[in-house]
Amino acid sequence: MRVGVLALQGDVREHRASLERAGAEVVDVRTPRELDLVDGLILPGGESTAIAKLLDTSGLRLALASRLASGMAAFGTCAGLIALSSHIEDGRADQWSFAALDVTVKRNGYGRQIASFETPIDVRDVGHMVGVFIRAPRIIAAGPEVRILATINRDGSDDPVVVRQGNVVGCCFHPELTSDIQLHQYFLQIAAAAAQ
Ligand code: GLN
Repeated sequence: MRVGVLALQGDVREHRASLERAGAEVVDVRTPRELDLVDGLILPGGESTAIAKLLDTSGLRLALASRLASGMAAFGTCAGLIALSSHIEDGRADQWSFAALDVTVKRNGYGRQIASFETPIDVRDVGHMVGVFIRAPRIIAAGPEVRILATINRDGSDDPVVVRQGNVVGCCFHPELTSDIQLHQYFLQIAAAAAQ
């Protein structure tokens, strides 16, 4: 089994390093041909408007939509979660997304860069970890098909921060910025099962 990191923009190297430490064979995915080589894909954090634009110009938008529709495993973190979501609040007017996770995300919903924070999180089926939130999207609604694997309590509301729908996982924070590879291992298990 081989997995990919969408390598158009964002923290590609960090995800790659986490996957390699989890024992995976990893390729950078920049073209539809490279996407054909992988059994699962991480969509990294970065800038979701830039990632959406580059998905269009690289030809990956259609190719990835079709892989997602056929059940490929995917894991979106931060901007990658935004790209997988079904609705975006405070997106750019022309910002589109794959709608692989039936969630509404509010971009920068926890405030600006200066409001970045870390908090302990218990992720169901995965384990205990520290979440690093940087201009993170806030999940403000989730449909009935979405399993909420973790929440945090912030400003009096319980927000989902790790979600799963089928073989697609999204999280609001940056697991690749810590040495903790539990979520990467979880994604690899899903990818291995989906690739059977
Ligand atoms: N705020 C960014 C966006 O909307 C996401 C931030 C991140 O990935 N760290 O794209």
